[in-house]
Amino acid sequence: MQLKHQLPNGRRLIVLEGDITRVPVDAIANAANSDLAGGGGVDGAIHRAGGPAIMQELDRIRPALGRLPTGQAVATTAGRLPAKFVFHAAGPIWHGGERGEPEALASCYRVCLALAEERGLRSVSFPSISTGIYGYPLDLAALIAVNEIIAFLSQPAITVEDVWMVLFDPATYLAYQRALTHGTSRRASRPAEA
Ligand code: ADP
Repeated sequence: MQLKHQLPNGRRLIVLEGDITRVPVDAIANAANSDLAGGGGVDGAIHRAGGPAIMQELDRIRPALGRLPTGQAVATTAGRLPAKFVFHAAGPIWHGGERGEPEALASCYRVCLALAEERGLRSVSFPSISTGIYGYPLDLAALIAVNEIIAFLSQPAITVEDVWMVLFDPATYLAYQRALTHGTSRRASRPAEA
């Protein structure tokens, strides 16, 4: 299942049900945590598929960086993954929505897209940051992700052409499909089911 949304400037947001470690892109965003020391969920899948080179680079970065602030991200090699980089973002833990969670989640997407742009990349993929172990309500998170990505892609003269949201299960895919479809009724272009 996939849904492609093309903007008037030709940039695309592609919402796909699948495993993010199998989709070739220039950079894969990871739903990591502030410790950058590995975890379960998509973080575990990315480290398993990418191999030890990713953790080795994080081990080198960690002493200087300390804890990664919520809403921030750092870049490493992608190891054996079909990508050049992994961007490790620290998503917010859901505490009810009054502790800066929406802004922190939006920041994860913005910072990763800025890291891609700094590197002149053409494609980036995201998992559904914070909606697994971190408990962020799916529909709220999907709206934030879709709005941030479309706002970014609407800018003139950016190198990023395609952003992929790679969703692991049908319920998550459907939430992003809803966010894209409802959101686009207020936008100039329409998504097309493929
Ligand atoms: P968080 O701690 O940010 O909530 P999780 O890894 O627990 O991160 O969950 C984030 C999302 O990533 C969830 O929707 C989960 O189902 C999904 N996920 C887990 N494995 C993969 C994978 N291989 N590809 C894409 N998404 C994945």
